[in-house]
Amino acid sequence: MPTMSTTLTIAVSKGRIYKEALPLLAHAGITPLDDPETSRKLILDTSREDVKLVIIRTTDVPTYVQYGAADVGVTGKDVLMEHGGEGLYEPLDLGIARCRMMTAGFADVPPPGGRLRVATKYVNCARRYFAEQGQQVEVIKLYGSMELAPIVGLADCIVDLVDTGNTLKANGLVPQKHIADISSRLIVNRASMKMKHAQVRELIDHLAEAVRLRNA
Ligand code: AMP
Repeated sequence: MPTMSTTLTIAVSKGRIYKEALPLLAHAGITPLDDPETSRKLILDTSREDVKLVIIRTTDVPTYVQYGAADVGVTGKDVLMEHGGEGLYEPLDLGIARCRMMTAGFADVPPPGGRLRVATKYVNCARRYFAEQGQQVEVIKLYGSMELAPIVGLADCIVDLVDTGNTLKANGLVPQKHIADISSRLIVNRASMKMKHAQVRELIDHLAEAVRLRNA
């Protein structure tokens, strides 16, 4: 009896993660038929009839996968740390979009007398990190341009992603404490792992092989 082919949906964001994930997906025989940078389509067909990509914000990827709106997803460890990762398997480190989550601030500025004010979009990560350090802080939620916060006196320091360090340097800040190494991960919906086991397993195996070959 022929097996029925069901669609496997992969959630991924535009930009750096997408670009760096493309060669890995190609190794699994998956090539998108449209370019999300130029197309307005949010659901992309691929060279494989049974695989579709949904193009969403990286912070939404865990939510889509958690609720089964996508079977699998590619997103940064920073996003997963902030989300909490409930209801998700994280079977593979893709080793792409690497950077570090760090605190940053002005060099040689003594800590304030009162509670340290920390501006970040990673409020959960920041609270967890400073609690582990035994440090009482006030965390201020921002949605972007964190580097501005110490300059205008909104915060004493920030928690953000650092790659080359150029963004911090351009704003007179220096990286300080290392919180975590970040890279993009493959995540899988728990039900999809069971219900679409063969398809998901095949994808994980091909991607794992692509990562191995790239690192060889
Ligand atoms: P850089 O100037 O190279 O240190 O890059 C820092 C800026 O790029 C910050 O605004 C970060 O939020 C962002 N960034 C760096 N690496 C990543 C990454 N892997 N994923 C998402 N954002 C990143």
